[in-house]
Amino acid sequence: MEFQLSKQQKMIKKMVRELTENEFKPIAKEIDETGRFPHENVEKLRKYGLLGMNIPREYGGAGADELSYVIAIEEISRYCATTGVICSAHNSLVCWPIYYYGTEEQKEKFLKPLARGDKLGAFALTEPNAGSDAANQQTKAVKENDYWIINGSKIFITNGGMADIYIIFAKTDASKGPKGISAFIVERDSPGFKIGKIESKMGIRGSATAELIFEDMKIPEENLLGKLNDGFKIALKTLDGGRIGIAAQALGIAQGAFDETVNYIKQREQFGRPIAKFQSVQFEIAEMKTKLEAARALVYNAALKKMHSNDYTLEAAMAKYYASDIAMEITRKAVQLHGGYGYTKEYCVERMMRDAKITEIYEGTTEVQKIVIAAKVLNR
Ligand SMILES: Cc1cc2nc3c(=O)[nH]c(=O)nc-3n(C[C@H](O)[C@H](O)[C@H](O)COP(=O)(O)OP(=O)(O)OC[C@H]3O[C@@H](n4cnc5c(N)ncnc54)[C@H](O)[C@@H]3O)c2cc1C
Repeated sequence: MEFQLSKQQKMIKKMVRELTENEFKPIAKEIDETGRFPHENVEKLRKYGLLGMNIPREYGGAGADELSYVIAIEEISRYCATTGVICSAHNSLVCWPIYYYGTEEQKEKFLKPLARGDKLGAFALTEPNAGSDAANQQTKAVKENDYWIINGSKIFITNGGMADIYIIFAKTDASKGPKGISAFIVERDSPGFKIGKIESKMGIRGSATAELIFEDMKIPEENLLGKLNDGFKIALKTLDGGRIGIAAQALGIAQGAFDETVNYIKQREQFGRPIAKFQSVQFEIAEMKTKLEAARALVYNAALKKMHSNDYTLEAAMAKYYASDIAMEITRKAVQLHGGYGYTKEYCVERMMRDAKITEIYEGTTEVQKIVIAAKVLNR
């Protein structure tokens, strides 16, 4: 499948590639080593209109299409998967659901500053006892006069602590299981909102991953997102789009590791010739290239499906499953083809291998994607 990119898509690809090469790539190693949040990269994302990419201009966004967004996340993640996930969580998991489910007042108050990039967003669904079984929410929201009083906690929240606006999920009717969960828009300075543990991670080390604690947190009534008790449906629909973003991140990581490897094997000599001359090395490159293009086809196809249809659950799950799988495989092979040097921090492929692993876990593990794919196929 050959994708003919539009003039705008090509322009965005070129712009983001230059941004990554000039700004993100040079500091990616330091961000990984220190684990610090890259505020300067977020400022660049804002300046280049990449925070709120798919949101129409009337709401402060760039008005770009889903394929342009996927290409941007892919290009960013080629050399900085940390910045890739910061951007993906903000766009797919926060801007999109407020645009899709929010009232005009919510769009005015929350979406505009998010889409302009003046504020950063986070999405908080996961709890200690609600990971893959996300319906098993323990956080509770109780209505008191004009407010919701929320108690509970969330873990592993990307952009946690750094974000200004959070979409959170809580039980509003304990008797109804998944049909008793609601979504809320929460501001960082809400009374009773605390940031707990910050995780120290194997990869994407500059991206903040935090625990959120709600102790009698008070949220105005009008911050309910979508209809009462529709929260689980909203979470699943939002994650369909988020998975396309993570698939694009995985694709970018794989592409970055592949490019580094092709350069390396052409210049590294053993037995009197470049190792690229050995046929077993060439076969590895052939396999890597083929799988990369297969993943790209799935990821771009999921983006196109989202642009043209309201049901892209299957395409998103297949793209996320396959792209994360080959990102892990290609980064592992990239380290192998760099030999002993690949195991050192002198080369970036070891970082890429560590970054790739999370793409198989977050926004639904590989196993969860397979459950979704099989359910779609078998229920037809
Ligand atoms: C760095 C990072 C960032 C994250 N960012 C966010 C975020 O921004 N917002 C948010 O809400 N969450 C976030 N998460 C949470 C993430 O989505 C969950 O960790 C993930 O969904 C898995 O849940 P779990 O960790 O509880 O694992 P578990 O659900 O306990 O799974 C453990 C293992 O069991 C398998 N398993 C579970 N159930 C089944 C089943 N039915 N069939 C087969 N296998 C099964 C899983 O696939 C996995 O291999 C993040 C996590 C990390 C590590």
